Order: sequence, then structure tokens, then C-alpha cells
Amino acid sequence: MAASPPHLGLEGLTRDLAIAILLDGPVSRAELARRHDLTPGTVTRLVTPLLKAGLVLEAEAPDGPRRGLGRPSKPLSIAAGTHLFAGLKLTGASVSGVLVDMSAHVLATGQIELVGRDPQAVVARIEALVADLAGGRALAAVGIGLGGNVGPDDVVQRAPFLGWQNVPLGDLVGARLGVPVALANDVAGLTEAQHWFGAGRGLDSFALITMGVGVGYGLVSGGHRVETPDYGIGLIGHMRLDPNGPRCAQGHTGCAAALLSDAGIEASVAAGLGRPVSFDECLDLALDGNPVASSVVSASGRALGRLVAAVANIALPERVILSGESARLAEVAARDVAAGLQEDRDPLADEVDYVVQPSDPFDWARGAAVIALQRVLLA
Ligand SMILES: [Zn+2]
Repeated sequence: MAASPPHLGLEGLTRDLAIAILLDGPVSRAELARRHDLTPGTVTRLVTPLLKAGLVLEAEAPDGPRRGLGRPSKPLSIAAGTHLFAGLKLTGASVSGVLVDMSAHVLATGQIELVGRDPQAVVARIEALVADLAGGRALAAVGIGLGGNVGPDDVVQRAPFLGWQNVPLGDLVGARLGVPVALANDVAGLTEAQHWFGAGRGLDSFALITMGVGVGYGLVSGGHRVETPDYGIGLIGHMRLDPNGPRCAQGHTGCAAALLSDAGIEASVAAGLGRPVSFDECLDLALDGNPVASSVVSASGRALGRLVAAVANIALPERVILSGESARLAEVAARDVAAGLQEDRDPLADEVDYVVQPSDPFDWARGAAVIALQRVLLA
């Protein structure tokens, strides 16, 4: 693989402006000065090296009508293609990957099956996928997201679906690829992708609830993601949402995992139909008016509404984003979600702003790429 591009090495205000140009560009110097409480002269002084380094570009068109003397100001945007990142989502069966530029725009996707769960075998598959995604182009960093606990120094402390404990995956992959590697819990990555480039962009606070194999939760407060070593345990997954609901594998009655996970919904519908059924089939049957599936999906939608209300009442976010592979539940059961939300929300309170954004494996991989991008920019 080609050598990694030069480290950005940005510091202080220069770094803040580069990030503002990345997230808000094209943006004028005057706007940057206003937002960062700087003089236009200071902005020009700080931005000039970024322009010379080719990291920031000036738009061709002047920024509005020319007033008075002097050169017209041209809006600034990031030269997104100067640094490329690979992001990977690792499960117990496969690795999904994306190649993105600095704007987290996806340039390529790929997926590869695992041939074994031994760390060295997994690292070899990761190396093959990254080489395929990069296609000979240099990478600034690689991000890897997985469902599990990630400790300092990019060590996988615990990943049950891989049977791993204390695997130094960041070092193992970094040694093979020769580029910096950032490892993160997958929900943390998806939260950061929403924070910088998605439905949480520009917000001071938002919560992310993911549904799929499990139920995940991420929170941004005061402009920063709340960091915890407990990402990956799935703490929100066993909150009780329905005292008469089904039981999860751990024996809780009516918890989020029993009511909102794929397996929980499949098990409830399968018990009523007397045959196995997939998650998507459960939703399709409910849409077709099948009484068993409708009843289960309706109860799950109501439970989801209660979970959104609990998050909104306690964390006080500006927005709640519902994501994950199975977020389609919130669309199919939209009326039940609204009813459950209303049930647990004071009528005097502001209406909860919640959005539904189902995610596929490549969205998760993009989240890991954003973690790598942030590591490089904020290092
Ligand atoms: Zn449970």
C-alpha cells in the first residue's frame, strides 16, 4: 500500500477553523470571523497556510456582491480529496468497509466474509478488504467499529460475537497496514457520523437509539459525545418498557431487547404463527394486516415510543435519532411510536423532535471512518 499522506499537524485556532470549514463550508472568511469571535485579519492569517498546503480551497465565485475597495472574498471549502480514510464494521461473520474522503463522502464500498475468528485470520481479511477499497491510493487512517467494549490503546476488551477478550486489534492491523488505526465501539462511531455529517450536525445535543441485533444508545451533550467505557454492554437494552411484555434471554419481562431487537420481535411473531419468521417478514406481515404480526409490531412500536420519551425526559436532547438496521420498525409502527411517546411525555413539554434513519452495514463502517478522521484532525 502507498505511504500515508503527511500528518495534518493542525493546532489551536488553525485546527478549529479547518474543522469549521470542513463541517460548514463553503463558508466566508467574514462568517468564520463572526462565529469564532476573531478579526477578519486573524482569519486570513490563519487560513493562508491551509490554502498554501492545499487543504482548503477558495471557490471560484466571489462571496456575494463586491462592496467598496479591495479583493472580493471567496468562500472557503475543504479540499476533501486530499486525505482518504477507510472505515470498517466488523461482525462475527463479515467485514463491511467504505472508502471516504474528508467530507465522509463514500467513494467505494466492499464486503468480505470472515474465514475464522482467530485474530490473525481476521486481521488478514481486514488487510485484504482495505487494500481492495484503497485501490493503491494512500490512506490517512483506518477506522474499525465493532459491537463490544473498546479500551484505551485500541484494544478490544470484549467482543462476545467474536469470542474475543483483550485483543490489541488496533496494533495488529496498524502493523500490517502501516497506517494509523482507530478502533471504536460501533455505536460510538455511528453517533460521531451523525454528529459531524448527519442528522445531529450543528446540534449541541442529540441522542441516538439503534435497533437491530441489539439496542444501542449514544449521546451528544454540550457539543461533545458522552464517552463511557460501557459502550458495548448495551445498557439501554434491558430497560423495562412494558410490564406485560415478552421476556428477553436474560429473563427480563418487557425490556427493550425483548421488544425492540430483531430476535425479540421474530420470537414473538414466530410463537404466534407457529413457524420461524424473519424480522423484515414480521414488518411486512404487519403491513398486510396479519393479526399476530400487527399485534407484536404495534406493541414494539409503543415500547419504542416510551423509550424515546424516557431518553427525551432524562437526557433533554434537542433531537432523538432512531437508527440501526431495524429502524424501519419506527416507520411501520409510526402511530404506535407516537402513542407510546405521548403516554410518557408531559403534555406541557416541547414536542420531541425524532427522526428515523435506518442504517446498513456501510453506514456503520462510515461511522468508523469518521472516528479515524476525527483522530487525525484532532490529534
Ligand atoms: Zn432484557
